Amino acid sequence: MSDIHALRDNILFSTLDDLLSWARQGSPWAITFGLACCAIEMMAAGASRFDLDRHGMFFRPSPRQSDVMIVSGTVTIKMAPLLRRLYEQMPEPKYVISMGSCANSGGPYWQYGYHVLKGVDRIVPVDVYVPGCPPRPEALIQGIMELKEKIKKERLLSKIG
Ligand code: SF4
Repeated sequence: MSDIHALRDNILFSTLDDLLSWARQGSPWAITFGLACCAIEMMAAGASRFDLDRHGMFFRPSPRQSDVMIVSGTVTIKMAPLLRRLYEQMPEPKYVISMGSCANSGGPYWQYGYHVLKGVDRIVPVDVYVPGCPPRPEALIQGIMELKEKIKKERLLSKIG
């Protein structure tokens, strides 16, 4: 085998931007944050049967260590400013997954729930919407996979330059 053939299987060519995006999508840490019944499914996704750790997602107790906010549950008008504050405390680049009908659009409260925000996208930008009331852990994992695809395609250095 010539030297060039021996090298072909061992060398990857890429850009620094691609490498950064690949690394970032491999470990999207999420802020520990649950609002209502959907949060129970989010916890199940993190427990041993579905094991979010295998996807590189770990829950962090501080917004300053988090890349992703999973809004899982009913966002009340009273809670909305606090949710926004936590979002602002997360470092850039940051992402939001809206999990379940309540976070997506107000859910069962969309018509008469005077105390409920009709969609968390009214106060923070949402990257992925996961439908369901509640969505099963598999649906949340699908949403996380979609977010990873999005992160993988980002070119942060090009934006700065
Ligand atoms: S979408 Fe359904 S399960 Fe989720 S928080 Fe709202 S009422 Fe509860």
